[in-house]
Amino acid sequence: MKVTDIKVYPQEIPLVEPFKIAFAEVNEAHTIIVEVLTDEGISGIGEAAPTSKITGETFSQAIENLKYIREWLIGKDPLYVGKIEDELNSMLLGNSSIKAAISMALYDILGKVSNKPVYKLLGAYRDHFETDITIGIKSVEDTVKNALKHVEAGFKVLKIKVGINEEEDIERIKKLRDAIGYDVRIRLDANQAWSANQAVSIMRKIERYEIELLEQPTPYWDINGLRYIKERIEVPVIADESVHTARDAIRLIKESAVDGVNIKLMKCGGIGEAIKIARVVEAEGLKCMIGCMEETRIALTAAAHVVGASKNIVYIDLDGNLNMVDEPASGGMELKNGIIHLPSKSGLGVELDREKLVKYKFSGDYKKIQL
Ligand code: MG
Repeated sequence: MKVTDIKVYPQEIPLVEPFKIAFAEVNEAHTIIVEVLTDEGISGIGEAAPTSKITGETFSQAIENLKYIREWLIGKDPLYVGKIEDELNSMLLGNSSIKAAISMALYDILGKVSNKPVYKLLGAYRDHFETDITIGIKSVEDTVKNALKHVEAGFKVLKIKVGINEEEDIERIKKLRDAIGYDVRIRLDANQAWSANQAVSIMRKIERYEIELLEQPTPYWDINGLRYIKERIEVPVIADESVHTARDAIRLIKESAVDGVNIKLMKCGGIGEAIKIARVVEAEGLKCMIGCMEETRIALTAAAHVVGASKNIVYIDLDGNLNMVDEPASGGMELKNGIIHLPSKSGLGVELDREKLVKYKFSGDYKKIQL
């Protein structure tokens, strides 16, 4: 079997409402759908959501570098997924979102050839699990309104973005608990916004409201800060932006800096590396979370397959498509009452919607996209 071509479809998908976190606000999802074609008529799909502030790739660089990868990949056997992932890492530093897109597409092909869903190929552990839903930064009143709507829809775990206004964050959590009670779990994500001292001081004021975990309180480089916080609060500290690969995870664990790490395909560069992180963290006795960027059900389903094969991914945050008005794909994971169910179809189990690929084609100036 040989790769014959790679098609690249840059997309711009409007969001239902703007999404705001500590360091950014977006109105559209900018994502790149990739299709790997083979000489046996089987094709695989993947997706890259380059996020320059986190993965170091701009949208235009991601598209350029995909052209470079395309030339290199044509003629190779797509079933040698491990070898291709390894060689991609040695030929191109960083660029993790486009590497992830290629990895997903290759696993999709592998699954289709083997007639098995990807999570079974990886060694299935489960076929459904609970996800949270994220509420971006908005007024306290709107946070509560949104939360009640999500609880009504069946979600039992909320992830609340914080980090812009300290007083408002404290008020937000208090009002939220008053409104939703204690049957719903609350996770916090500060997206690098706090200093270590500030994080400890804020958490002391809100720990009484039962916070399940705190994601990335300090800047990604501040490993000492993470440890300082971990040693002083009861709530588990989870590294997100500080951890891209398994090596990063090992370093943080050696430094006793965190209670767990958040895996994202867009940061680690593919399914192989995601599984590696889940395994090394499990071996060290810590927990994993899995998260996403603004991604459609293509990348989300790929991440969901990783969860299906990983007992140790216990905090799941795969909700990136819920705020999109539409998606250029169908099938894949199914969300019911806050529970994600994996597809039983072979491969990723997702299909491209070619009409929508055209409808949401991004044809503006790539260089104007900033995140
Ligand atoms: Mg995060």
